[in-house]
Amino acid sequence: MHNAEFERLGLNFVYVPWRIEPDRLAEAVRGLHAANVAGFNATIPHKEALVPLMDELSEEARLSGAVNTVKCDGLKLYGFNTDIGGWRSDIERDISLERATVCVLGAGGAARGICIACAQAGVPMVIVANRTKPRATELVRQLAAQFAGTHFRAVDLHSSDCKAAIQNCDIVVNSTSVGMKRDPGSPVPVEWLRSEHYVYDTIYAPVETELLTAARAKGCRTRNGFGMLARQGAESFEIWSGVRPDADRMEATLREITGSR
Ligand code: NAP
Repeated sequence: MHNAEFERLGLNFVYVPWRIEPDRLAEAVRGLHAANVAGFNATIPHKEALVPLMDELSEEARLSGAVNTVKCDGLKLYGFNTDIGGWRSDIERDISLERATVCVLGAGGAARGICIACAQAGVPMVIVANRTKPRATELVRQLAAQFAGTHFRAVDLHSSDCKAAIQNCDIVVNSTSVGMKRDPGSPVPVEWLRSEHYVYDTIYAPVETELLTAARAKGCRTRNGFGMLARQGAESFEIWSGVRPDADRMEATLREITGSR
């Protein structure tokens, strides 16, 4: 996705994968910096561990405690979190977040980023529903301390409170891993959905999870996680190169190379 866009825009950059073991992360970061790379992305399990290695953090990286994009300028390392803006710019293609009530399923790293994006977009009410309720309660406690303008509430994913929360919300976002190829199924009973719901699933493999298939059958508007993946990448691209790429074209490339048109 990145290399295709670098080539189209005639930019002299190349994107390559590196496998870094957790106990060598600091050493790897120093090495990349010394080698004058423009920057890099990081994924699980490095996003939180990168935070103390940065000289400066963006607002999103600070709020989330996670870095997925690093820019090196020879002197300093700048840490960003583009997952947050990537999700927001993807969903806002379809629906305005500003006055919506959002039910976020899951309380892990992706859920935290989505909750921050919701608060930044002015969502008045976010319900966090998680299998392990204490994890949702702790996330909600932290978010409430960061954002006064959004009301956050934690519920148990498998409870009547969750059913009521879903039935009264506008947007349902799946940020659990339930629905992935290795973890099939739906995080909540699909009967809980109404045709008025907008349903977003952060998962993109499979292209359509059981939750999205059921939601579409009910007449809900739906979207999978491809756009989020492409748009976090497009934000990183611009951070490194200073050039705004075509995010739709990057998404199309991603679909093409993964065979998921
Ligand atoms: P994570 O931090 O490990 O969180 C996983 C979440 O899934 C937790 O809330 C966990 O609940 C829940 N979960 C796992 N198994 C479950 C089960 N059997 N029943 C109910 N809940 C279950 O992972 P993450 O990084 O947030 O990623 C979560 C999802 O987001 C993944 O599907 C990933 O593909 C997707 N994602 C997509 C993008 C994108 O660009 N589209 C980016 C990032 C992540 P407990 O707390 O109870 O364990």
